[in-house]
Amino acid sequence: MDISRSEEIFAHARQLVPGGVNSPVRAFSSVGGTPRFIERASGPFLYDVDGNEYVDLICSWGPMLLGHAHSEVIHAVGAAVAHGTSFGAPTEVEAKLAEAIIERTPVDQVRMVNSGTEATMTVIRLARGITGRDLIVKFAGCYHGHVDSLLVAAGSGVATLHGGEPSSPGVTAGTTADTLVVDYNDRAGLEAVFAEHGDRIAAVMAEASPGNMGVVPPSVVDGENFNAFCKRVCHAHGALFISDEVMTGFRVTRSGQFGLDGVEPDLMTFGKVMGGGFPAAAFGGRAEYMAHLSPVGGVYQAGTLAGNPVATTAGLKTLQLADDAVYERVDRAAEIVRGETGRALEEAGVPHVINSNGSMFSVFFTDQPVTDFASAQTTDTKRYAAFFHAMLDAGVHLPPSAFETWFCSSTHHDSVLDRITSALPAAARAAAAVN
Ligand SMILES: *Cc1c(COP(=O)(O)O)cnc(C)c1O
Repeated sequence: MDISRSEEIFAHARQLVPGGVNSPVRAFSSVGGTPRFIERASGPFLYDVDGNEYVDLICSWGPMLLGHAHSEVIHAVGAAVAHGTSFGAPTEVEAKLAEAIIERTPVDQVRMVNSGTEATMTVIRLARGITGRDLIVKFAGCYHGHVDSLLVAAGSGVATLHGGEPSSPGVTAGTTADTLVVDYNDRAGLEAVFAEHGDRIAAVMAEASPGNMGVVPPSVVDGENFNAFCKRVCHAHGALFISDEVMTGFRVTRSGQFGLDGVEPDLMTFGKVMGGGFPAAAFGGRAEYMAHLSPVGGVYQAGTLAGNPVATTAGLKTLQLADDAVYERVDRAAEIVRGETGRALEEAGVPHVINSNGSMFSVFFTDQPVTDFASAQTTDTKRYAAFFHAMLDAGVHLPPSAFETWFCSSTHHDSVLDRITSALPAAARAAAAVN
């Protein structure tokens, strides 16, 4: 495919913006080559500035559950824009979106913010405010946005850029000193940390089902899911269990990961799908906990554009349109892509592991089970790069990193999936050719 305009714009953008992008993974650093500059999108397709069409398996990293430019979402957004774009005063649509979230999840109240990062940052402040304790436990490979105190052993973009180094320059030792890191699915590890520091731990924060080191689902041991285990250990020590559902929320089921494992966290974070493609996120929990937040309580949080009327309209319309049929279509599309990818890699003799949790899935180029960050990192990133570029050349846009979740939408119909299926054998052979 000719991508001369993308190349031109990338060269120009790199002079103006670090790496030419506003979020690192978009730069193709780990797969090489030139990112496609996107002009527009429709349903399951992205169109770049050179006029190329791609089947989109990024879906904006999750939000576009209904596909791009869904006519009813666009119509609702257009109507909202015409009424003014920001007031700095409350609107009814914010309450309606809060109600839609509360109705689907085990939270009594929510507060809206602009990004998942803000949601996790604030929920940690809230957990510390509620418990009067300082320490936070996170899991290696879980990404909770670029919050300083959580940028320790964070997955995906960070793994891609720093090869898994524990933090970013600019994050002070003082900040991360209050963050304890345990391997994901490591029950003994979590118990050990609590045995040593239990009375100082405010909260354990986990991705509800990690997707930011690739998909690594919570393990089940003796019938107990890892989230249930975390909650049990937290409560035994007076700590809170925070489930970060920014990625899983309203995607893996109508009620997110909670809809799969039924574990009720003390506090939760949401983002991605609930913004309908706009900057919107939220955190929530039991009313008694949320009462610690200003203006009711003393834990401060605010936002000029928080609960923005256009963003909340897009989010509300998206949640309203996401009915059972939508989830069935997304699940089915994911199942087909997973199955066909596995088959093609099998036929080409490429060692691989495909992990999935509902419609979230990812492909690891490794021959060992992937249950935590260390095993995720055994994936052969050179093979992934070859596979990625062969798919891209055939018009299928995968995430440009080996440590990401692949996402489908309800518009990934059979004819679209056929295009993925026919692109796979050559891509699998390209991966096989890398040693
Ligand atoms: C995407 C993501 C975030 C960060 O959200 P942003 O809107 O990018 O700040 C936090 N937690 C999880 C689990 C995510 O997937």
